[in-house]
Amino acid sequence: MKNDKKELTDTNFIIRNIMIDLGDNMNKVHTRFPPEPNGFLHIGHAKSIILNYGIAKTYGGNFNLRFDDTNPAKENEMYVASIKEDVSWLGAKFEDRLFYASNYFDTMYEIAIKLIKENKAFVCDLTGDEIREYRGSLFEAGKKSPYYSRTIEENLELFKAMKEGKFADGEKTLRAKIDMSSPNINMRDPVIYRIAHIDHHNTGNKWCIYPTYDYAHSLEDCIEGITHSICTLEFEDHRPLYNWVVENSGLPSKPRQMEFAKLNITNTIMGKRHIKELVDNGEVDGWDDPRLATISGLRRRGYTKEAIWDFCDKIGVSKADSVVDVELLEYCIREDLKNRSQSIMAVVDPLKVVITNYDENKTEMLLIENNGVNEEMGKREVPFSREIYIEREDFKENASNKFFRLTNGKEVRLKGAYFIKCNEVIKDDDGNIIELRVTYDVETKSGSGFTGRKVKGTIHWVSLKHAITAEARFFDYLLIEDEKTKEIVKNKETLKILNNVKIEKSVLDYPNDTKFQFIRNGYFCIDNKLSDDKLIFNRTVSLKNKFKRK
Ligand code: ATP
Ligand code: MG
Repeated sequence: MKNDKKELTDTNFIIRNIMIDLGDNMNKVHTRFPPEPNGFLHIGHAKSIILNYGIAKTYGGNFNLRFDDTNPAKENEMYVASIKEDVSWLGAKFEDRLFYASNYFDTMYEIAIKLIKENKAFVCDLTGDEIREYRGSLFEAGKKSPYYSRTIEENLELFKAMKEGKFADGEKTLRAKIDMSSPNINMRDPVIYRIAHIDHHNTGNKWCIYPTYDYAHSLEDCIEGITHSICTLEFEDHRPLYNWVVENSGLPSKPRQMEFAKLNITNTIMGKRHIKELVDNGEVDGWDDPRLATISGLRRRGYTKEAIWDFCDKIGVSKADSVVDVELLEYCIREDLKNRSQSIMAVVDPLKVVITNYDENKTEMLLIENNGVNEEMGKREVPFSREIYIEREDFKENASNKFFRLTNGKEVRLKGAYFIKCNEVIKDDDGNIIELRVTYDVETKSGSGFTGRKVKGTIHWVSLKHAITAEARFFDYLLIEDEKTKEIVKNKETLKILNNVKIEKSVLDYPNDTKFQFIRNGYFCIDNKLSDDKLIFNRTVSLKNKFKRK
């Protein structure tokens, strides 16, 4: 996947099957992404969007964004808005191809009437429990409903009465007449309409009967002229029913359903239902919490759409369920940010350093590269003065020979500046180090060609009087392996906040969506949701893998 081209670089079994179906007419391909607006999208949905949109884009076909909003109980407008935003952000274009399944309720109703007239559907009075009882099991055929043989006229009348609100929820259903002895339980006279006296976000109180998923979804695909209806494996057993509805709908279109394995990722919680639980329990800060694998969470964390496309390209599409290591996702965002993030001087855990032989009134502008590996990003001027901050962990008293940062009596390079030597450690009454007194050597200026002597370490810094204070948030995985039991458990500490981060003032001059690199501490972005009162940075990812790959 090239960053500038939203196209698929590889074929997979889905694409190969479409090629078999369409031959030279690949531009006739028509796909869709059909979210139910009952939650925010997560990265599993991104995989589906990228697959469906990618196919349409690559071969010059069509892509629909369709809200599968046929179940009013859990759906709402906030979810619709967030889904549109996320699909757009991922780069899938749908402006003139945005549809709502609820706009087809009339057609779906008429097709149900047609099925009744053809003696292919009947109104059933069995309760939910009774329907389950009659349905049989994997090992035993089902029994026909006692209401199976109602006359067509009676069915038409009852179905109309259902629509008119004459019955309570659950009192009656409309069921397809297929085959109670089918080995596939989905085919045992499935319910296609149920009564629910609930207002719908789009149709208001117009309907009190709603189509079931299997019935509605096939019709939605037919109505829109979808050629290939790509879904996840749990619908494989529903395919015969999908095809039955397609065949009996009387609609000309014959979409083909194909299934692929859902994306799962280690160390995180997927599935809208599970994510909603975290949100509702207040365990996270909304659906866009940076710890979540929701698209909005990843975005708020600093992930780019390019990294997500790259990730989806790398994991491929298959029929076999698998769990992808979260490190692959992290690898993809590092690869993307490596060459284009803006380096900035930021000290997350500051220790004050006074350079005693540096002029008190002087500010020197030093040239420092904007990106350590991409020279094209050029350099910027960073102010340097007598008082600076360094990372607390970059100083150690009485360190061993293997410690290459700052220690008593030894020299270290300040990045882009001078060698300094620590002469004095100042402590508070409790023995905590609160300040260092150092001297610098004017000869050793970076870029001056100085070769007199070498130092092993370089540390970053920020000029005290040119720094602003900000907050930085570090995230850990939602799920981890318990060291003792080896079970996957919820991580109790997923958020670490440091609120005395000292940053080069110029950080304020960059656009709000800039991707920053804090030297040694990782890639960061500004949290645009929380940064109203104070400046808050989210760590997108560390610079390196925490663990060595096996
Ligand atoms: P969830 O299990 O998170 O609730 P869902 O499948 O119920 O997801 P829908 O809104 O019904 O969510 O799904 C929209 C599309 O996204 C469907 O075609 C579905 O198959 C696909 N999809 C959902 N989860 C994944 C996943 N983990 N990997 C790939 N595709 C997915
Ligand atoms: Mg669902």
